[in-house]
Amino acid sequence: MNCPNSSLGVLESLRQPMETGQTAVARANYHVTYPARFQLIAAMNPCKCGFAGQPGHVCRNGPRCAADYQARISGPLLDRMDIQVELAAVKPSDLSLPPPKEASNDVAVRVLAARQKQAQRFTALGKTELRRNAEADGALLEEIARPDAQGLTLLREASDIMKLSARGYHRVLRVARTIADLDRHEQVARIHIAEALSYRQKLSAFVAAA
Ligand SMILES: [Zn+2]
Repeated sequence: MNCPNSSLGVLESLRQPMETGQTAVARANYHVTYPARFQLIAAMNPCKCGFAGQPGHVCRNGPRCAADYQARISGPLLDRMDIQVELAAVKPSDLSLPPPKEASNDVAVRVLAARQKQAQRFTALGKTELRRNAEADGALLEEIARPDAQGLTLLREASDIMKLSARGYHRVLRVARTIADLDRHEQVARIHIAEALSYRQKLSAFVAAA
């Protein structure tokens, strides 16, 4: 990825709509706010050469190759990404593997059921304007995603160790609520918290390296 500084500025400008679902345009004589809810899915190489971390590969610039490249995505922007996953390169031999046990159509059914469950939960709480966990914040989020005792202990301990921001803490809760919904569990449990935390390891490593 060749990302000149102007593109990095565009990426940083996504921080506000990612957080609020709105974007503001300010000019000398007027100020307009537009709705801007979206789902951001982004991918990047691990380093400039594209092969850092792969068995048998050594970057020409050593560890700085990955560190410098990944530092182009700021911590605050990364903090707004709920799910950060490292993917290994696909080997030619992987292409002949059998398909996953759960087909896309089956996953779609599970996702639809989870979305319906979320909408029903908000309606029951009198929040008919909300439909998805992504729209819940603050006290409402803490109410609908309250983990069981073991889950809460894990979340508190991991928050300290991983140095989660307040935003990160709430984002873990929100993702855990959704994982529990996909699992058809009314109560957010330790296993759901653990999975949500595992999706923020990338940021944790980033913060540790800073
Ligand atoms: Zn490299």
